Amino acid sequence: MANKIKSEKLNKIQSIRGMHDILPDQSPLWQFFEATVKKLLQGYAYNEIRMPVLESTDLFCRSIGEVTDIVEKEMYTFEDRNGDSLTLRPEGTASCVRSGVQHGLFHNQQQRLWYMGPMFRHERPQKGRYRQFHQVGIETFGIASADIDAELILMSARLWKLLGLKDIRLELNTLGTAESRNAYRQVLVDYLNQHKDILDEDSLRRLESNPLRVLDSKNPKMQSMIEAAPSLLDYLDEESKTHFEQLKAILDKAGIEYNINTRLVRGLDYYCKTVFEWVTDALGAQGTICAGGRYDTLVQQLGGRATPAAGFAMGVERILSLLEDAGMQVDNTPDVFIVLQGDQAQLQGLSIVESLRDQLPDVRIQANCGGGSFKNQIKKADKSGASIALILGDEELQNKSITIKLLREKAEQKVVAQSELATTINTLL
Ligand code: ATP
Ligand code: MG
Repeated sequence: MANKIKSEKLNKIQSIRGMHDILPDQSPLWQFFEATVKKLLQGYAYNEIRMPVLESTDLFCRSIGEVTDIVEKEMYTFEDRNGDSLTLRPEGTASCVRSGVQHGLFHNQQQRLWYMGPMFRHERPQKGRYRQFHQVGIETFGIASADIDAELILMSARLWKLLGLKDIRLELNTLGTAESRNAYRQVLVDYLNQHKDILDEDSLRRLESNPLRVLDSKNPKMQSMIEAAPSLLDYLDEESKTHFEQLKAILDKAGIEYNINTRLVRGLDYYCKTVFEWVTDALGAQGTICAGGRYDTLVQQLGGRATPAAGFAMGVERILSLLEDAGMQVDNTPDVFIVLQGDQAQLQGLSIVESLRDQLPDVRIQANCGGGSFKNQIKKADKSGASIALILGDEELQNKSITIKLLREKAEQKVVAQSELATTINTLL
């Protein structure tokens, strides 16, 4: 028995395939990205909403659509101890709408909301595709006009600029209103039926359930047939056409370039009118870093009053991967390292450092803990990346002083009064 436990202990538990730790050397880049996004959203006066990561399975079936990749094969669904079917959220829009309906956020008011956090999809893990990944989601409610679609696009364009990302192109399309899509649907079904021999198994199924999704197929054998298919743009009703024209006019005025891509249908059922994707060629097959559009019927579909809505989600890992490839590094080293030499310094040192922290709230200060010789502590100071070491020993304690050693420059150590310390550090940093 004892032996068995021992050998089990030796078996190290690994993280789940496709679900990654964000390690200390990676988190500074995440924090930089998150801070940049938060500041941007603050500037557009959007408000944060935080939803649970678990929802009832029904929510996603009713919103994303029964015959989508996500609901058919990507959801983490399980029964909890009460026998209720729960699902780890594969995306945030459905939860956001659920929350808004539940809390009356859409009654006689507009909402501009955002969230960020992990999403879960059981996909084949590869570069840019994980089973736990992160999205920043931005959703607006109660605004039917194309200006808000444009605001969302302008906001994302501003983010790429803030992050220093280049060569990201905007793909734009309209799916029209439900009415115009229905008219087109019939034409498309007739066309696809004429080419049934080329359709793969997935597409044959979609031909019955969700024919527009056939246009989304990545199957190379079907591409020329898809290219030649009738275009939805020819079947748009006046309302959809006007909306699309207005959006394009605002984007033109703002100098935003876009490519009209009539094959862009998006994988989720709830979109109507505007759909868009920001795409890069730098990430291989997983090139979409941001995707969204209008979803005017979803709120009603989830039990709320009819409420126009538009939004988008960014894939954080894919954006960070672009930043890494561009060589971006975020400095996360301490500014100051405190060497505490001797028993008295270990005893009193931390309180002295606390008063320094009171005066310098923005300076990153790391105090030596765990003792060690002077030489050893100076080595740690050097390794920490700090530019300044402060040395506190018996003599300094006695004189209410502290010794300053610059770690990255050749300079004499100097001793200053503890009362002068904060001012001195401010001039040195
Ligand atoms: P894809 O076509 O790449 O599967 P999608 O259409 O399923 O994307 P959305 O549901 O629109 O993606 O999600 C928005 C964004 O979230 C995507 O553009 C992408 O950047 C990111 N994303 C989606 N799925 C994953 C995943 N499994 N791993 C990492 N990022 C993802
Ligand atoms: Mg997908």
